[in-house]
Amino acid sequence: MSLEIAEVHRYELAGKRVWVAGHRGMVGSAIMRRLKAISCDVLTAERDETDLTRQDAVATWLRDNRPDAVFLAAARVGGIHANNTLPARFLYENLMIEANVLHAAHEAGVEKLLFLGSSCIYPRGVEQPMHESSLLTGPLEPTNQWYAVAKIAGVKMCQAYRREYGCDFISVMPTNLYGPGDNFDPEFGHVPAALLRRFHEAKERGDTEVVVWGTGTPRREFMHVDDLADGCIFLMCRYSGEEPVNVGIGEDVTISEFAAMIAQIVGYEGQIVFDRTRPDGVPRKLLDVSRMEALGWTSKIALGDGLRRYYQWFQENRDALRF
Ligand code: GDP
Repeated sequence: MSLEIAEVHRYELAGKRVWVAGHRGMVGSAIMRRLKAISCDVLTAERDETDLTRQDAVATWLRDNRPDAVFLAAARVGGIHANNTLPARFLYENLMIEANVLHAAHEAGVEKLLFLGSSCIYPRGVEQPMHESSLLTGPLEPTNQWYAVAKIAGVKMCQAYRREYGCDFISVMPTNLYGPGDNFDPEFGHVPAALLRRFHEAKERGDTEVVVWGTGTPRREFMHVDDLADGCIFLMCRYSGEEPVNVGIGEDVTISEFAAMIAQIVGYEGQIVFDRTRPDGVPRKLLDVSRMEALGWTSKIALGDGLRRYYQWFQENRDALRF
């Protein structure tokens, strides 16, 4: 990446037709909230009308709606158990969505596209914090390799379409996320939602024990999705380059520390026990955010503040959540 080029890059969303693909998901809905501050025309496609895994449906939608800019936040996502047990769905659906949207965006003459990847694209055992340059330097973490392979293909597609067709497609690699719209399924969600719900319900029932998966020793970096959405808008408007850009808060915690933080925020005072029959996954995932900082953006929501906001949102929306 040439920072010189990035520094002079300017893309305005104001006055543009902006498609948020995946607008009902946690990331897409955060981008929708953030776009309210910009006077652009936000476009959405409903899942039951436009299945993004169908090439014809995606091409037709783009031809009919002609967005100028696209945030590609649509994806099949899930926690360590979901990734590990639904390998075909994670690989197939994510590959199809990326291939269909990126190719149709090129054909429809989209000016700018931001593709959302994931920090799990980086090899297991790579030097921490993980720099963008470590992509494809070693073997992947087995529990999320299906998702990672699909997301790596998305990054490569953005690069290929830049090189061959001159498309301004960029990739963003967010760290582990939490926030409004999260999946609170105890088996298939990510660790923040699973633990927030488990500790909350344990407190309500007066349970004396809460189970946390694995050994508690893996380290993860957690970012509030509103922080990511702000970073995505920043990159859409200020970055143009082939290299992916990491977005994170720059700090990590152990799962054991994270569970203790959630217990404290929820007000749960019982025991925390670790179920070692459950997988730990990758031992550490902390992103090197120096590229993003050099571009002029830093995270604004500290973990403790973000988790308190998260819990407040959970309590206010509990009745509307599907469980
Ligand atoms: P990962 O970052 O791709 O491994 O995804 P997750 O968010 O699913 O898991 C992060 C870490 O949290 C792993 O080490 C899990 O073992 C641990 N963990 C502890 N309790 C839970 C839980 O209830 N659900 C999930 N998904 N992970 C948990």
